[in-house]
Amino acid sequence: MDVESVPMVHQMVSLSREESLRLVGHQHACHAMIYASCPDKIFGKIPVRYAVLMQMRFDGRLGFPGGFMEIRDGGFLEAGFNRELASQLGIQPGLLRITEREHVLAHVMPVSGDRPIVAHFYMRELSLPQLRDVEMAALGARDFGAEVMRTVRVPLYTLRDGVGGLPAFLCNSFASMAREQLLWALAARRLLPPGRLREACETARVPVPALAL
Ligand code: AMP
Ligand code: MN
Repeated sequence: MDVESVPMVHQMVSLSREESLRLVGHQHACHAMIYASCPDKIFGKIPVRYAVLMQMRFDGRLGFPGGFMEIRDGGFLEAGFNRELASQLGIQPGLLRITEREHVLAHVMPVSGDRPIVAHFYMRELSLPQLRDVEMAALGARDFGAEVMRTVRVPLYTLRDGVGGLPAFLCNSFASMAREQLLWALAARRLLPPGRLREACETARVPVPALAL
């Protein structure tokens, strides 16, 4: 299955946004993780910690909102990205705007089609009410029910059976690098303690992100 053929982050060349824009003949894909601190407790006792948004895609895999960008006029990646986010999430300008400040990763993925792909990843923290507005707007988005089946929140906790929650979630099928990007982001922003993240990865039998080792 294609899950097995997804390269690990450490097998890919990591570079800055600026370096990547100097590459010639590459395709650029931009995806973003939108998240908010969340004080809720499930069943009144399991802390949710953060609401992290992903989406069920048309291909049955989980991924982050975004897609391929055409670079015009000397490399305004984020202009196209905001248009793509608007059609996938139905958000009004003003509710959410991604800028180059939110760019956190760029990886060159091994060539699978005709051109190599640079995968750009952005992270944007919102307040919980703003994130709820994004979730609600997504139901009316142009791409809802077509390219995007539904926005979902990632469970960051592990239930007492040791599997339910994040470990079970990580066993889903993910588009391209989405799972690696998610794990990198959870570790980099410490959205859960590194030991918990490591355990969840081990239970799910997925590679532990280097930042959580
Ligand atoms: P999309 O139009 O969302 O399928 O994105 C275009 C391409 O970006 C995909 O075909 C993947 O090769 C790549 N990609 C890299 N990271 C992700 C991600 N987190 N989610 C979805 N696609 C990704
Ligand atoms: Mn997409």
